[in-house]
Amino acid sequence: MTNIILMGPPGAGKGTQARHLVDQRNMVQLSTGDMLRDAQASGSEMGKKVATIMAEGKLVTDEVVIGLIREKMTAGADGGFIFDGFPRTLAQADALAALLDEMGQTLDAVIEMEVDDAALVARITGRSTCGGCGEVYHDETKPWAADGKCTNCGSTDVKRRADDNEDSLKTRLMEYYKKTSPLLGYYYAKGSLSTIDGLAAIDQVQGSIAGILDA
Ligand code: ADP
Ligand code: ADP
Ligand code: ZN
Repeated sequence: MTNIILMGPPGAGKGTQARHLVDQRNMVQLSTGDMLRDAQASGSEMGKKVATIMAEGKLVTDEVVIGLIREKMTAGADGGFIFDGFPRTLAQADALAALLDEMGQTLDAVIEMEVDDAALVARITGRSTCGGCGEVYHDETKPWAADGKCTNCGSTDVKRRADDNEDSLKTRLMEYYKKTSPLLGYYYAKGSLSTIDGLAAIDQVQGSIAGILDA
């Protein structure tokens, strides 16, 4: 069992790579962003509370995201967990360490997807996902097929995120550098950090991650 964290700023490619690992290695993706968007879609009280914060690009409280992760980690995953977009603060990192410890599990790798900040605007403003299966697309680098159908599930439901605009991205980047990037030092000091080139083509990034997991 291998539990890993994918780290990187918004648009680094975490979700894209997590989906591939789910397909190829039977891992379980735990994306707090997806969980929060599900809560919003379901119209729950918590979903309503976080909606404005998410639209602005600020971080929701540690309490909320730790609660979501705790709910999903009641049972271990055969192929291991991929933490995607979590932890984003030191308090979340400590909570994750405690949760894994309770379950008698370890954190095996923290993979930093290094990207050029200037590339993120294009990544974020071109992003769409399939409403049917969650496949991640990009207007330029991974466009929808000409018939408008998802190559994975056949759905024609193209979803774009309300926070995928330049304004929100600025706030999200600031949040990343202020609150999340210190985790890189934290995991480096723990000896778990590996850094890969997130600007390479999608399949090359896949290869870099496989290299770390199979080392
Ligand atoms: P994150 O989950 O880190 O925010 P995503 O996986 O959603 O990032 O990717 C952001 C956008 O960039 C998507 O539109 C995706 O298709 C595209 N993308 C992801 N990885 C690459 C890559 N290596 N090269 C080019 N485009 C990519
Ligand atoms: P991206 O893929 O662009 O990095 P996410 O889908 O991971 O974005 O997150 C979208 C939004 O959800 C964030 O801007 C933030 O408001 C909220 N969010 C997601 N994960 C966390 C977390 N671990 N801690 C706090 N807020 C979070
Ligand atoms: Zn689909």
